[in-house]
Amino acid sequence: MIRCKRGFKILHFLRKPFAQEAAGASATFKPLNGPNLGAKIPLDSTKDSLQSEKNSNESTQSAMERAKSATTPIKNWTRQQIKEIYDTPLMELVFQAQMQHRKFHDPSEVQLCTLLSIKTGGCSEDCKYCAQSSRYDTGTKAEKLITIDEVMKAATIAKQNGSTRFCMGAAWRDMKGRKSGMRKISEMVSRINDELGMETCVTLGMLDAQQAKDLAASGLTAYNHNIDTSREHYPNVISTRSFDDRLETIKNVQKAGILACTGGILGLGETPDDHVGFLHTLANMDPHPESLPINRLVPIAGTPMKAEIDALPKDSNRRLKLDQVVKTIATARMIMPQAIIRLAAGRYTMKEHEQFICFMAGCNAIFTGEKMLTTMCNGWDEDIKMLETWGLKPMKSFRKHSVV
Ligand code: SF4
Repeated sequence: MIRCKRGFKILHFLRKPFAQEAAGASATFKPLNGPNLGAKIPLDSTKDSLQSEKNSNESTQSAMERAKSATTPIKNWTRQQIKEIYDTPLMELVFQAQMQHRKFHDPSEVQLCTLLSIKTGGCSEDCKYCAQSSRYDTGTKAEKLITIDEVMKAATIAKQNGSTRFCMGAAWRDMKGRKSGMRKISEMVSRINDELGMETCVTLGMLDAQQAKDLAASGLTAYNHNIDTSREHYPNVISTRSFDDRLETIKNVQKAGILACTGGILGLGETPDDHVGFLHTLANMDPHPESLPINRLVPIAGTPMKAEIDALPKDSNRRLKLDQVVKTIATARMIMPQAIIRLAAGRYTMKEHEQFICFMAGCNAIFTGEKMLTTMCNGWDEDIKMLETWGLKPMKSFRKHSVV
């Protein structure tokens, strides 16, 4: 049998004329020798045999080889394949992720985003990590939606400091019955797009199909709605809306033509296997998320999650370690090569060399500015200096506006 390096393409090329000839119900297969000279082979079995050869080639190919050979994103990853990549020795994994990154992105560019809380606190949901849930005593006060002028002022400052994407977050469960809020937010989006030439992203909780269409009509670039963690670990973190509710909002957003910004939080007491499950859900989305935020939990006093993390034994594998953050990022880069992977909340708790390793592993975006909703953020000056030291520059607006 003639095989190319991957034992696949040449075989297909040789078989193609035969498959074309067999366009009827059956075909005559004439082997050079063997007992079944001239035997009729039903077309379906020919197709099956070609398919099973293809499957067998794919199944003998390692998951890493499969990721490396992709020229466009693959959306049918198995959990086992993702685990195989996640478990690759760390140095090799980071090296391969950096190569993958260079294949799909300009390695000198980093997207700078600034996030503004446009409606803080008083949320009815019970996300165990969140300072804005009205169920926990965290000292965060419920506020009203801020004005368009306040938003424009903050977006202008962000632009002057080099940010190209402006994100706005409101602590709401969903947009049901919030017609006036939706109108105001749509105006914020259009004005930031038109007057400042910045990309826009909002995170407002769950959206139905019509609300997603309304936001698309205002020119919204991306909608953030995180899946947070793996499907299995999710019920340990949130009970007031399901994992599938989250997926439905993401589908509504994508169907409306808005880019999906979706990722999660590491450090919610999950295991490495949950990182694999989390990535499995994201990597099987069609299309893949355009933006994939990786947050690192900042435990907030008064939330149940802080109490749970504090109670974990020191050596528990549910305590997040740097190598797990790096593995998650590098694996994401291998299996979702087009996505913009952003180091989000909790970055300020990381030392510069720890952030550097995350960039080596395939990160290419950060949130920068004064605040990340209720937690701290690294400031623009500090970030610009850091990126200059690393030889990186800010990505221009609307450079990346499609994913497949
Ligand atoms: S994470 Fe969002 S939905 Fe959950 S409590 Fe906080 S603001 Fe509400």
